[in-house]
Amino acid sequence: MAIAETHPQQQQEKVSSEASAAEKKRWTLSDFDIGKPLGRGKFGHVYLAREKRSNHIVALKVLFKSQLQQSQVEHQLRREVEIQSHLRHPNILRLYGYFYDQKRVYLILEYAAKGELYKELQRCKYFSERRAATYVASLARALIYCHGKHVIHRDIKPENLLIGAQGELKIADFGWSVHTFNRRRTMCGTLDYLPPEMVESVEHDASVDIWSLGVLCYEFLYGVPPFEAKEHSDTYRRIVQVDLKFPPKPIVSSAAKDLISQMLVKDSSQRLPLHKLLEHPWIVQNADPSGIYRA
Ligand code: AMP
Repeated sequence: MAIAETHPQQQQEKVSSEASAAEKKRWTLSDFDIGKPLGRGKFGHVYLAREKRSNHIVALKVLFKSQLQQSQVEHQLRREVEIQSHLRHPNILRLYGYFYDQKRVYLILEYAAKGELYKELQRCKYFSERRAATYVASLARALIYCHGKHVIHRDIKPENLLIGAQGELKIADFGWSVHTFNRRRTMCGTLDYLPPEMVESVEHDASVDIWSLGVLCYEFLYGVPPFEAKEHSDTYRRIVQVDLKFPPKPIVSSAAKDLISQMLVKDSSQRLPLHKLLEHPWIVQNADPSGIYRA
């Protein structure tokens, strides 16, 4: 499944400018000092690394070509690199460049010092309204930026979000996580975040990201996604019917519920536009304008 999208013409422009950017600097492994492992993905490992000349700290993602080929995801990786390397936003993980040798592909990524949001959510169970609103607002700003560049993320969920050194959220995956091992729920998996039009394989547009952000907002506040069910088929049914329920505990304000209800709307044209989301009273009253959550 393709996750991040651009218009074909835009894609063409990206490909040619990417080619010229790649010509500027050809990286090799000897440009880096390799440090501790940061984590493991399906196709390889991520290491802390330092670029020797600038002393710049990065995360180096090492992917094995054989595994990429086996899973037939080389094309998708190429597109992900093209898209992510052109995005510049404080809440989007930078992809500085890439290089490869005979066996491996290396992605030079911005280092997200505070690690995975998913783990943080597990640790806290659920977030305060201030924290949730700060995160949702910063993601809305990142998605407005993406949509302005005709990029639809289509895979917004906690596993794809990292936390930077200041506590700011970083969207980290543009087309990749769908192929990685699902770390959370083997039963429902990625279905939880998909909007009705994608579950039903109907045409979709940038408003799929509004839906996923609504699901994420719910999960931040309640600790579980809204349409979770034991069986895949039940999650499917609940999404299609927009079977949205707000449990009595934890206590969540009616303003937050109002915002979520305006995002999780079946008719994608009726979902609250992201710039309106930023003006919603719950966001205005709770989100830290810096986008940084301070405990
Ligand atoms: P991935 O293959 O992208 O799923 O990455 C595997 C794990 O490495 C993640 O779950 C993170 O814990 C860690 N990781 C990946 N990228 C970064 C990064 N840019 N900064 C810090 N940790 C990272």
